[in-house]
Amino acid sequence: MPPVFRFAPSPNGYLHLGHARSALLNADLARASGGRLLLRIEDIDIARCRPAYVQAIYEDLRWLGLAWEQPVRRQSEHMTAYRDALDRLEAMGLVYPAFESRREVAHMVASRGEAWPFDPDGAPIYPGSIDAMTDSERAALIATGAPFALRLDMVAARARAGDLFWIEHDVGRVMAKPEDWGDVILARRDTPTSYHLAVVIDDALQGVTHVVRGRDLYWSTSVHRLLQALLDLPQPHYRHHDLVLDDTGHKLSKSTDATALRVLRARGVTPADIRRRVTLPVD
Ligand code: GLU
Repeated sequence: MPPVFRFAPSPNGYLHLGHARSALLNADLARASGGRLLLRIEDIDIARCRPAYVQAIYEDLRWLGLAWEQPVRRQSEHMTAYRDALDRLEAMGLVYPAFESRREVAHMVASRGEAWPFDPDGAPIYPGSIDAMTDSERAALIATGAPFALRLDMVAARARAGDLFWIEHDVGRVMAKPEDWGDVILARRDTPTSYHLAVVIDDALQGVTHVVRGRDLYWSTSVHRLLQALLDLPQPHYRHHDLVLDDTGHKLSKSTDATALRVLRARGVTPADIRRRVTLPVD
């Protein structure tokens, strides 16, 4: 079976040099190994994703010289697949509704008056737990229409899955530490899945064997391994590449005039120039 690679951008802005590194590296690795390249549009965040950005992704990638298989999977079209996975986790007793907004969580943490742990993305670990309320208290709140997030009971999930590793390119076995994320959100009332759940389901459904993505997602892999173990999904190989940094040494989070592929293209920059900028070989 040929290896299967994927590039999975979120259409919430224009592609920048960081995306170019990921997309081109995936394409190079697929070509060198006789593998397949998939493109996946990660558009579950309806508030931030725009159809125009999806079209721009296709244009920018074609300009870079990429070819990918059809049809392109768009996450927004597969919400039932994520819902099914969530149902399975719920049936295992690993998911519970929690009602605090982000601001309320920040407030709860501040009111502890002690050093509080943060997750690898810099957000405070959720200070509540599944034991904070009974099932009937939660049901009563849901009946009032209160917004909620479905969280993973990390202690129970960890206990069920046991110790986990993933295989990282050039490193070997890396011990997964999903507990560093606390009771992560798996879905919200109005968004039936989180990034973590959708990515794991899609990689499995699409038969992805190699996940090649930026180093900013390195520790997310801990949560992904846990969900794969709980849902009995195969584990791909992982390769987290260095990020493209801006002049101040920070990762590119938004496209700017200095980094957006379409701006660079309009200025006469060539795809070969882009490859050089992201330190990939030019043939
Ligand atoms: N959609 C994610 C992003 O644009 C990437 C997900 C992944 O590669 O696992 O950052």
